[in-house]
Amino acid sequence: MMNDILRDASGHLTISGMRADELAAQYGTPLYVYSGEGFVRSFTTFTKSLSEVDARVHYAVKANSAIGILSLLASCGAGADIVSGGEMRRALAAGIPADKIVFSGVGKTDDEIRAALGEGVGQINAESAAEIAHISAIANAMNLQAPVALRVNVNVDPGSHKKISTGQRSTKFGIPVEDGEAAHLYREICANPHIIPRGLAVHIGSQLRNLAPFEMAYQALLEIADSLRAEGLDVPILDLGGGLGIDYEGDSDPDFAAYGALVTRIFANRGYQLGFEPGRCIAADNGVLLVTNLYTKQGEDKRFIITDGAMNDLIRPTLYESYHRIEPVGPQQTATGIADIVGPVCETGDYLGTDRMMPDVPEGSCLAVMSAGAYGAVMMSNYNTRPEAAEIIIYQGQAHILRPRRTVDDLIALEDNPF
Ligand SMILES: *Cc1c(COP(=O)(O)O)cnc(C)c1O
Repeated sequence: MMNDILRDASGHLTISGMRADELAAQYGTPLYVYSGEGFVRSFTTFTKSLSEVDARVHYAVKANSAIGILSLLASCGAGADIVSGGEMRRALAAGIPADKIVFSGVGKTDDEIRAALGEGVGQINAESAAEIAHISAIANAMNLQAPVALRVNVNVDPGSHKKISTGQRSTKFGIPVEDGEAAHLYREICANPHIIPRGLAVHIGSQLRNLAPFEMAYQALLEIADSLRAEGLDVPILDLGGGLGIDYEGDSDPDFAAYGALVTRIFANRGYQLGFEPGRCIAADNGVLLVTNLYTKQGEDKRFIITDGAMNDLIRPTLYESYHRIEPVGPQQTATGIADIVGPVCETGDYLGTDRMMPDVPEGSCLAVMSAGAYGAVMMSNYNTRPEAAEIIIYQGQAHILRPRRTVDDLIALEDNPF
């Protein structure tokens, strides 16, 4: 593994060289800790794998939207793929130029479209005829031309969990290529004086561990783009989305080289500018969630390790049945039996991991939930009136707070009591 989250000579887990147990003691738990070096390395390795094509990489902000992380990636040349007006504000606050922002998503509001056009975002990926009508009317009223690409649905099953699959015809995503629907709409936007056609986009889903679905989707995209060009239409950009998966077992790095080779084989020398929207494969392996064992409780046939981290801190296991490695931050000990690692939330679905072979975990000692850098902190909630965990990043030998731990006072201050 090339990541910067590893064991030191004495067996202690470290993040960019700083010990997890010491960070937990200093900042408290639950605590998200990221490796700045890791983010930089993942982003630059991804980008380098595309050096044979004309690539623009727009980091998918929703995977981990901490402004400090966006800013670090911006310093490496990253643009942003956003899915809301809120994410646009974050990207701009982090110093990502508007023309390097791509606005994706099926349900943009008029206010969001207006804000995006007002800021001058580089590309809006539209997903329906109705949305295009709104974009066109707003651009007309603002007396400008909206840069629009069409997100097409090429009906490819990405083979990942159903809640993170977007490529099939049965999902809400994209405009079907079937029956010429996408081609018809593309001709319409080319004829629309309020729109500058920017090209086509696909994003078939997330956590793809097999490259075959990418190949099918990209070939289908190229075919429709070439046929539109053959009609004389301007199709400058093909946006290939995100979705490259990671190894949650922790045995290997994302295969950026194989992905880059696939893209190069399909698109090199075809005359398209290519866009990319990686999220998980940049962020996931570069963060951990540190939690503390509150109590160990013996159940009927296994232990429950009850930690101060819960589904409100990391919902992926509950929402997607996702697997995250969970390890003591101290030197590894031999496993003594099966355990569920659960939180204090009053839901049976509140677990970080089930049926794990675990060593004895003393009360008060700390566990690391691995590969938690993507779709972790961004999905935190206050369920059970649990304030959000703090997020810190280690970079160049120093720990920096990205977001301080929220307090119950913070939460209560946001409410009104009308009675
Ligand atoms: C979520 C999303 C991404 C990022 O997906 P990853 O699997 O995190 O790489 C990219 N593009 C779009 C349109 C998305 O919705």
